Amino acid sequence: MTPQSILKEYFGYEQFREGQEKLIQHILGGGDVLGIMPTGAGKSICYQVPAMLLCGLTVVVSPLISLMQDQVAALREAGVPAAALHSNLTAAEYYRTLDAIRSGRIKLLYASPERLLTEGFLGIMDTIAVAMVAVDEAHCLSQWGQDFRPSYLQIIDFLKALPRRPVVAAFTATATQSVRDDISFLLGLQSPLELVTGFDRPNLQWRVEQPRDKYAALLRILKKNQEKSGIVYCLTRKNTEEVCEKLCADGFAATRYHAGLSPEERTANQEAFIRDEKRIIIATNAFGMGIDKSNVAFVVHYNMPKSMEAYYQEAGRAGRDGGPAECTLLYSGQDVRLNHFLIENSDENNPLLTEQQKKDVQSKDKERLQAMVRYCNRTDCLRASILKYFGENPPKHCGNCSNCLTDSETIDATLESQKILSCVYRVAQKGRKCGVRTLCDILQKKETQAILSAGYEQLTTFGIMEDTPRARLEQIVHILVSRGYLELDTGQYPTLSLTIKANAVLRNQKRIQMALPKLQAERSKSQTGGTLTAEGPVEESLFQILRRTREKLAEREYVPAYIIFTDATLRDMCRKKPKTMEEMLSISGVGKYKLDKYGETFLKVITSYKET
Ligand code: ADP
Ligand code: ZN
Repeated sequence: MTPQSILKEYFGYEQFREGQEKLIQHILGGGDVLGIMPTGAGKSICYQVPAMLLCGLTVVVSPLISLMQDQVAALREAGVPAAALHSNLTAAEYYRTLDAIRSGRIKLLYASPERLLTEGFLGIMDTIAVAMVAVDEAHCLSQWGQDFRPSYLQIIDFLKALPRRPVVAAFTATATQSVRDDISFLLGLQSPLELVTGFDRPNLQWRVEQPRDKYAALLRILKKNQEKSGIVYCLTRKNTEEVCEKLCADGFAATRYHAGLSPEERTANQEAFIRDEKRIIIATNAFGMGIDKSNVAFVVHYNMPKSMEAYYQEAGRAGRDGGPAECTLLYSGQDVRLNHFLIENSDENNPLLTEQQKKDVQSKDKERLQAMVRYCNRTDCLRASILKYFGENPPKHCGNCSNCLTDSETIDATLESQKILSCVYRVAQKGRKCGVRTLCDILQKKETQAILSAGYEQLTTFGIMEDTPRARLEQIVHILVSRGYLELDTGQYPTLSLTIKANAVLRNQKRIQMALPKLQAERSKSQTGGTLTAEGPVEESLFQILRRTREKLAEREYVPAYIIFTDATLRDMCRKKPKTMEEMLSISGVGKYKLDKYGETFLKVITSYKET
C-alpha cells in the first residue's frame, strides 16, 4: 500500500494537506522530522499514515489520557489497530493490550511520557520492534513554551534505552525558533526535516470587539450560534465561575473547567462537552490541550489572553473540521492590567530557572502581551496581522475578519471567481503565467504594452470583467489566493497559478461567498448574481437528519459523535447526496472501514430523504 491509498482507505480523504506528504515520505525514508503546523492542520495523519506502513510498532507520546483515548477511539473507528496504555485501564484491559502489542496486532500505541521509562513498559519494548516514536505536543519539552512538562525530558532516555533507535517524529503548533531548537536538541533529533506549514486557517473568522457589556456581547454570539458547540475562555477561575453560573441561570447547557476543580469534575465536564451533552464550556487556559473535538463552531475570549501564541492556539480549537467557525475576542482595558498583574505575580517558580532566566521570561512575557494589545487595537485586517506575527507574508485583505467585514456585504462571488480563475487558466494555456496586476488588466480590457506583446488581447477572457470596479476585482483575487484557489508563487515577480481546489469552482460544483467592502456606486444585478446562503433550507434539514442519525450511532457505540463522521463529512453528504455505496466512498472522510460500518445506514437516510 502507498501513503495515498492508506489515506483514502482508512481515513477517507482524497488528498494530503500541505506538508503532510513530505513529512510522511521523510519518515518512511528513515529520517527524523519536526513538523510545525497550526492546530487543526492535521498533524496526526503525519505519523498515523507511516505507522501503518512501517514494519513494527509506533509509540506515540502524548501528554493527556483524554487525548489518547480520543485518538485511539477515532483510529479504531477507522479500522486502524491502535491502543493506549494509561492508568485508567482496568487490569483486564491492560493485559489484553499487552498481549495485542506482543503479538504484533497493534500498529500505534499511545503512552504518556511518565510511562516510558517504567520497567514494565521497557520490558515490552525489548521484545518487539519499535519502528517510530512520535512525539505529540512536542513544545512541552521546552521551558520557553507555554506548557513545559519536565516528564517530556525523559523521552530521550527512553530512546536510548531501546535496542535500536527508531525514527523520531515530533509535532507542535508552536512556531517560535527557540522552542523549535529546544525540541530538536532535547529529543536528540538527527538532522531532522523541519517543516513549517502555512499558519492560515481560512475557515476561521477573526473578530475583536470592545463591548461595554461583555456578557451581553457573549449572549449575542451564543444566540447567533444556536445548537452549536463552543468554548468561552476566561483569564481567571473566578471569572470562569461567574460566567458559567450566569449562563446556566439563563438556560444554556454550559459547563466549566479550571485548575481549581477536582480531577473527577474536570474529566466529567470535559467529557460532557466532547460528547455534546453540554454545548458550551467556560474555561481557563487549563482547558484545551489535547482536545480534538472537531465540531467546535466558535471560541470566545471573554478576556484578552496573554499572548498571540496563546490566543492562536486557543482560538484555533474552533473549526477543526474545516467548516466555518468564529473566533471572537472581547477586549477591555482592564484585561491589560489583569494580564500585567498575572505576569508580575506569576507563581510558576520553576526550580529549573535561575533568577536571571526568570527575569528574562518575564520581560519576554511583557513583550508578548504588548503584541496582543496591538492586535486588539488594529483597524486593518486581523488575519494579516496574525499571520505576519507568525512570520508569514499574507495578503492585506482577507475578507473574513471583523475589520475586513466592517461596512461590507456578503455576496455570492461565484461568477466573478469563475471568470478570474478561467482567465488564469487561459493564460496558462498559452504557456505563461502572470501577476495580479496583469491578470486584472486582461479582465478589464486594458491594452497595455505587456498585454499586447503577450497577445493576451486574443484571450476569450479579455475584458470580461470590464464593469467590475478595479478595487473589488483585486479584492476578489486576493481572497481567492487567501482561500487557496489561486497560488501566488513568491518569486521576484510573483505570479498566479490555479490550485486543484479551483476545479470545483470552474466546474460549477462549488459556490463562493465573499464579504467585500460595500461599493459606492450602484451595481447592476447581473454583476453579482444575487446573494445566496451557503446551505439552503433543504440542505440544512438533511444535515439535521444526518446529525440525528450520527447521534444515535454515537450513543450505541459510546464514542463522541464526531468520531463517527465529522460535520464536514455530513456536509459533503448533503452536497453530493450519494446514491450508491461507491458514491458514498467518494465523500470526504468516508474510508472503506467506515463505509462498511455506517455507509448503508446513511445511504438509506439520504435515499428516504430524497423520496419524501
Ligand atoms: P492537529 O493535530 O494538527 O490539530 P488533527 O490531526 O486533529 O489536527 O486534524 C484536524 C482534522 O483534519 C481532523 O478531523 C482530521 O481528520 C482532518 N484531516 C487531517 N488530514 C486531512 C486531509 N488530508 N484531508 C482532509 N481532512 C484531514
Ligand atoms: Zn481580514
